[in-house]
Formats: sequence, structure tokens, C-alpha cells
Amino acid sequence: MDRGNPLQDAFFTRLFHGVSDAIYVIDPDSSSILAANEAGCRALGMSPEELIDQSVLSLNQDVTGPNQWREISAAIIAAGNYTFMGRHVRKDGTDFPVEVVTDYLEYKGRGYLVSVARDLSEHHRHREHLTDDELIRALLLNESSDGLWDWNLQDHSLFLSPQWFRMLGYGPNEISSPTLDTWRNSVHQEDLERVITLLQDHLQGKSSRYEAKYRLRSRDGHYLWVHDRGMVAQHDLDGRPQRMIGLVLDITESEHYAAELLERSQRDELTGLYNRRTGYELFERFLRDCRRDNQPLQVVMLDIDHFKPLNDDYGHLEGDRAIRHVADELRRCLRADEWLFRWGGEEFLLLFPGMDRSSAHGMMQRLLKHFNAVPFVTQGGESLELTFSAGISGFPENGNSIRQLVGAADRAMYRAKSSGRNRVEG
Ligand code: GH3
Ligand code: MG
Ligand code: MG
Repeated sequence: MDRGNPLQDAFFTRLFHGVSDAIYVIDPDSSSILAANEAGCRALGMSPEELIDQSVLSLNQDVTGPNQWREISAAIIAAGNYTFMGRHVRKDGTDFPVEVVTDYLEYKGRGYLVSVARDLSEHHRHREHLTDDELIRALLLNESSDGLWDWNLQDHSLFLSPQWFRMLGYGPNEISSPTLDTWRNSVHQEDLERVITLLQDHLQGKSSRYEAKYRLRSRDGHYLWVHDRGMVAQHDLDGRPQRMIGLVLDITESEHYAAELLERSQRDELTGLYNRRTGYELFERFLRDCRRDNQPLQVVMLDIDHFKPLNDDYGHLEGDRAIRHVADELRRCLRADEWLFRWGGEEFLLLFPGMDRSSAHGMMQRLLKHFNAVPFVTQGGESLELTFSAGISGFPENGNSIRQLVGAADRAMYRAKSSGRNRVEG
């Protein structure tokens, strides 16, 4: 027995009767049904015997007479296959929508039409539900948290749902005949080019749907973050897009939350300065840029002098306040906080891309003077003079990796410590 080979008559008979679509074998001349599978009998509510007496003329509402059948039959034979959307009539006289794909095939010198019919009732019910139900449409337009837009590419008109207006703070009739420019003018300048490119990509068939996150200006001038999705819903006969519809959702809150989380993960909690991890990332970027542009980069390691005694004498909280005081003063003097990182406990790293060694020296001397003049005041009102020691290293002369440059700045800083503190070395 050949169990592995399904290419046997019995298998094909089983296949013919086992599939869910109705299959009818039809005589191309008379339109008589020569055979039908089980689904074909079931669909029409007839036994195989009853069905064999039928013809396409008696079963199909849309075929009106023998002349029309001959034309249809000839067209199918010429083309080899044909797809037809129409209605089939059951034995009890009721009818239902079908999609029929008919192929012409020859077997042992005789021609046959084989029609595979799929019942579209469910599909139609679903469509009718969506297209005819005013309540559902009204609910979608008014109550959904997404604003709907419907863009007519022929006359450039734009339909915007009540929720679209509400989201952006407009009254329902405030913009009388919106066009694509109404929307375009509300998109944030920095996002516009990117969004238009995404839209064009979809219109040109490069993407299966349009999707973008961008900022949209509301009526009072502030920007909302939105998630916008859409697709071409209609094409003309040449395949050019005619109509595009989409949904836009306000995601300001989640975007702000995500931005806040990112910001928080980059910053040190005590001082608000960038943390060491972010420091590494920016260091890498500065180093890459300086290497590319043939520019120097100065690296400063800064450590507060005699900090342990302050902690011991005044407590850890005062220690924290002192660290914050140093961070605030550094930030104030340097003005750009992307150059300044809390590297460790009371250690800070400063980066000066594009600056030469003597300018960095000068800047650190001014910082020392500033710190000598601005004491840290404890909560008890006591003024304490805080000093620091700093070591400078420079790219390219002290190394060209972060590790080498930080190592050299560290060593210079310890030289400053050992030669009396409150000074800059390197
Ligand atoms: P030196 O002049 O040699 O730097 O002496 P120092 O006492 O400052 O010594 P060192 O820099 O090694 O000591 C750092 C101390 O800072 C040790 C630690 O207890 C304290 N410290 C580190 N992080 C924090 C912090 O977040 N808060 C507080 N209050 N103290 C910290
Ligand atoms: Mg210290
Ligand atoms: Mg230290």
C-alpha cells in the first residue's frame, strides 16, 4: 500500500467532498451541473440527485438566459478563468451572496467548467454592520479617544471628526473647511519633514500603512504629542491614491512620562547633574567628534578636599548639602551642564571639547578662586570654606581613549592633593 502518496483517486474524491467551499462541475454548452461536492449540495439545500437536474440558468439569479450563458461560457473558456460576484438561489427560493471562481479545463477530449463558490453572507453581514450602522459610526466619531481624519486627495479637502477638534481644543465648527494645510500648519516645524516623508512613503506604496509620532499644535499654542496612523482607502483606476483615512491619538502624557523616565535615568538624584553612565556616553561622543575634527579635548577630574571630616563633624545630610552646593556652583560657573558629571561620591568630571590646555587651566583657576570666595553655609548657619583639587588631561597628548584620559586626569588630581590641595595640576 502506498500510504505516503496522496495522489490517488480516493484521496481526490475525499478532497473534493471535504473542502468547505462549494464546487460545481458544469457543462460549458448547456450549463447543466454535472457534479457537485458535499459543500455545494449543502449550500443550496439539495441532495446530489436534485442538484444534477439543475443548471447555472436555474441556480444563478444573475444569468438570465441561454444566450447570455453562451457569452459567459465563451469568455471563461477564452480567458481560462473568471471571477464572479453574485447571488446563488437555494432550493427554498432564498438567495445568498457568493464569490465564484470558475476555471475551464479539458479532460479526455471534453471541456468542463469548474466553479468554486464561497458564501459571503458572513462577510456581508459584517460589512453592512459597519457601513449601515449610524450608531456605531456616531460612537466612533464622537466618543473614541482617537480623532479621525479623512483626506480627499482629489480636491484636497479634509474631514476631521469632532474628537479631532476636541483633542486640539477647537470648537466643533471653528474651522469651517479644513484642508491638508490646516493639519500641516499645526505640525511642529521640527517634526514636519519627517512626518511628510512617512506620508509620502505610504502614498507611493513604499509602506503598507502610515504611522508617525509627532507634535501637533493645539488651539492655545502648546503642543500635543500624537500617534497618527492611516492608510489609503481608495485608489483610482490607474492605482493612484484618491482617499486616505486615519486615526490620531493624544499620547502627550505617556511621551512626557517616557521623557521624564529617560531624563531621570540620565541624572544623578542628589545633584541633578548627569550621572557617570551618561558621562561615558557624552565622553564617547565628544571624543569621536574631536578625533574627526582634529580638535583637542580637555578632561578635568575634580575632588572636594577634606570631605570626610565634614561628613563626620556635621553629619551625612550636611555632607549631601555640601555636595549639592559644589554641584550648583560648578553649574553656575560653567553654564553648560552637558560638560559636567557627578563621577562618584564627591568627585566630578568636566569635559571641554575644542579647548586647549592653557584655557582649561585658566578656567579651573577661576573656579578655585570662586570657591574660595563662596563658602558653604550649614543649616546651623556656619560658613565653611570648601576647596577642591583638580587634575587635567588632554586629548590627544595624554591618550586617545576614555580610560587613558580619565587615568591621566586622576593621577594629576592626586598630584594636586599631595602637593597641598586647593590647586590644579596637569
Ligand atoms: P581628600 O582631600 O583626600 O579628597 O579627602 P577626603 O576626605 O575628601 O577623602 P575622599 O575623597 O576619599 O572621601 C570621600 C568621602 O565622601 C567618603 C564618603 O564617606 C563621602 N561620600 C561619598 N559619597 C557621598 C554622598 O553621596 N554623600 C555624603 N554625605 N558623603 C559622601
Ligand atoms: Mg575628597
Ligand atoms: Mg573622593
